[in-house]
Amino acid sequence: MTHPRILVLGTGGTIAGAGAHATGAAYRPGGLGLEVLIAHLDALGLAAELVPEDIARIGSQDIGWAEWQVLHAACTRALADPAITGVIITHGTDTAEETGFLLDLTLPTTKPIVLVGAMRPADAVGADGMRNFVNAVKVVGDPAAAGRGVMLVMGDAVLAARDARKAATAQIDAFRSFPRGPLARVTPSSLDWFGPPHRAGEAARYAFPAELPRVGILTAGAGMDEKPVAALLGIGCVGLVLAGMGQGNAPARVIKTLARAAANGVPVVRSTRVDEGLVDRNVEVDDDGLGLVAARALGPAKARVLLMVLIANGVTDAAAVQAAFDG
Ligand code: ASP
Repeated sequence: MTHPRILVLGTGGTIAGAGAHATGAAYRPGGLGLEVLIAHLDALGLAAELVPEDIARIGSQDIGWAEWQVLHAACTRALADPAITGVIITHGTDTAEETGFLLDLTLPTTKPIVLVGAMRPADAVGADGMRNFVNAVKVVGDPAAAGRGVMLVMGDAVLAARDARKAATAQIDAFRSFPRGPLARVTPSSLDWFGPPHRAGEAARYAFPAELPRVGILTAGAGMDEKPVAALLGIGCVGLVLAGMGQGNAPARVIKTLARAAANGVPVVRSTRVDEGLVDRNVEVDDDGLGLVAARALGPAKARVLLMVLIANGVTDAAAVQAAFDG
């Protein structure tokens, strides 16, 4: 049997991070190139052929438009190459959910594409990156992995990019999945899917944007006034995401100002600053009357990604934006 041939795209992050001391806290993310990781993996004798391509060596807090374009192009080439089984992207955990979701929205589901990171630098005692990577190889090498969209492999779990979020700053088990739980559990020796591929044969949902429109996130706080809304519009935001209280709430004067922006053609999505839960329509805010959109299961970071993609694809009407958030 031939081994899967996997394209490995390196961007940096803690999985490629090194510190001054194996038991210290301080480290620099993204310093190590893929060759270091691959050399360690070679020693493990994995049943896979890895094709490394370094894209960046940075912490994912610095990842953005430039890297996203390169990643999307590399994944597109890999999807078209019959010799490639799937793609692993090594990535910092801070923004893995944003990169993963952007690729999920803009790539077909024909081959597995998996993001993998680590919470502990490569040279720290108890480093988790190697295990997460070996798990990712197991996932991509499984014929049942295609047709599930872009996935994130961390902490022995496989999460759908749309559902995944970083929910803890430092612990190894840092990611949560909402509204669905994990798609699978994985270890270096086992992989158990909890259902069949639910997106088999799906084409890309949206065209990859030619440029990303500016969408701002406004975090609500008790006693705030409406001035930050004007500030965001003033710097050229063409879409706004509210990281609201509870089910996407904000003081009445903020909601009123957001509704005015929506009436002026700026799509406004109400998400929540709460860690988990749905933001539904017309609960405490009259979305129908005010022309606002409810983010449903998407937190502010991923709501911003979806709204950027929608605006770039010419989708700005509140009903059409709502349909995309419901999807
Ligand atoms: N700041 C790091 C990054 O996102 C954290 C990590 O990788 O876990 O690149």
